[in-house]
Parts: sequence; C-alpha cells; structure tokens
Amino acid sequence: MFGRSLYAVFAVVAVTATACGSGGDTYASIVDKAKNDKKLVIGVKADQPGLGLRTPDGSFSGFDIEVAKYVAKALGVEAKDITFKETVSANREAFIEQGQVDMVVATYSITDARKQKVSFAGPYFVAGQDLLVRADDAALTGPETLNGKKLCSVAGSTPAQKVKTEYAKEVQLQEERTYSACVDRVLGGQLDALTTDNVILAGYAAQHTGKLKVVGKAFSTEKYGIGLKKDDTTGRKAINDALDKMFSDGSWTKALQASVGASGFAMPQAPQLERY
Ligand code: GLU
Repeated sequence: MFGRSLYAVFAVVAVTATACGSGGDTYASIVDKAKNDKKLVIGVKADQPGLGLRTPDGSFSGFDIEVAKYVAKALGVEAKDITFKETVSANREAFIEQGQVDMVVATYSITDARKQKVSFAGPYFVAGQDLLVRADDAALTGPETLNGKKLCSVAGSTPAQKVKTEYAKEVQLQEERTYSACVDRVLGGQLDALTTDNVILAGYAAQHTGKLKVVGKAFSTEKYGIGLKKDDTTGRKAINDALDKMFSDGSWTKALQASVGASGFAMPQAPQLERY
C-alpha cells in the first residue's frame, strides 16, 4: 500500500515537472484557466491596421482585439487582465501548442491542416484572398493577370500557400515575416503586389491612400477562427457561445464598423458558427 501511494506521489511530481518544462501553462480547458487565474494571454497581429495593430503607447487596437476582449470577458477575464502577445502567421500553431498563448485571434483562417495541431472556434469573420497593388497599376486587375509578376506574401499564411500551389509557374513569390514588410516592398517598387485577405489589404490601402489600392477580386474563402489548444472542446464551446452572443447583441457589428469601417471595406453579415 505504502509503496504504491509513494509511487503515485512521484508520478504526480514527474508530470508537474514535465508540464513546467514545456514553457507554458497546462490546464484542461481555457475555461478553467480563465476562471482560476482571471488572466489570459492572447496571440494577435501587431501590424495590421483595423484588425490587430500595436499603437505607439504599446496597447493594441482593431477588430481582432475587440473580439478577443469580448470573448475574454465572457470567460470571466477583464480587458486589463489580458496580455496581448504578438504572433506572426507562421508561429500561431506553435504558440498555441507550446502554451505561449491561451488563444489566437489573428486573422487566422480555419483550415484542415491547422486543425491537425489546434482547435478553432468560429468563424467570426469571412474574408477572401485579394491583391494590393500600387494605385497607378492598371495591368494587375485580378488573379488572371498574375503572369510574370513579383508577388509578396507572408510565410505560413494560406495566401502564400495558394500562390505556391496554384500560381507557382507564372509568378515569383517573396515570403516575408509580416505583411507590413510586404507593403514596404510594393510601395518601393521592388515587388508588384501583396496578396492576402481583402480585409487586411483594405487597412493598408487606407493607410496609404493614393499610393496603394485593393484590386477587389477575391479568389479564396478565408474563415477566421479563434485558435485554441487541440481538443479543448469545452473551450471551443464556451468561445462559440461568446461569439454567438457578440453577433446577436450588436457588439460584433459595432466593433467591425468602428475598426474596419473607415477603410471602406464593405460591411458583411456575421457568419454562421461551425459547431462541430
Ligand atoms: N487568413 C490567412 C491566414 O490565416 C491570411 C492572413 C494571415 O496570414 O494572418 O493564413
């Protein structure tokens, strides 16, 4: 008897030690983490105006930030107790898997490949891949005019993947770490276009009026989800419930209008949640 319980104690110690060594929190569900700690670490973009942007005072603004705050609040965490952590497209799955963030709200498309590593609540927005070109570019009018063009996108993003699988023959693709790096290269004339989601591009076009424009012919469907630990079904349900409420109480439309409205992006309806 004694021997067995001693073994149990060692086993618990060993598990705890392993958990600590992984660098992040371990918990059964994000719901428990929020309830117990009253704090959350949320991965967001920092260079996407209207969606996820770090402002000069170090705080974050944009639609993703509003969605993150609403969901956190529904889980019992106040905005002041959220730590926003910058993620780029390529490290979102790893940040969730390693426990560096509790969830990701970062223009994060729900895909089957990503679902192998993380879970998604949502979608809370539907975008489409488009092109951002210099305002005086009359030649690039859609994906059918890409032949011989130099494109920029971000490593680990679905638009970069689409270019590599569907337009590899006709275009040259440069992959950057962030979209703002691509914007600089298109403005500077080294590259012809930035390709990613239309709603992201609208934010950059508004930032550089008269210099950049969105082509406006979306050629993919990007359903934005909230990424969380794989198999956290309790968390996914709780986040979907929060999104449902955000859609129905008017907060979703209000947040979208306030964050993205000024860019001129056509306001869509809230999407249908995927409750799988
Ligand atoms: N929504 C796309 C994705 O998740 C593009 C935007 C981004 O890279 O964040 O890959």
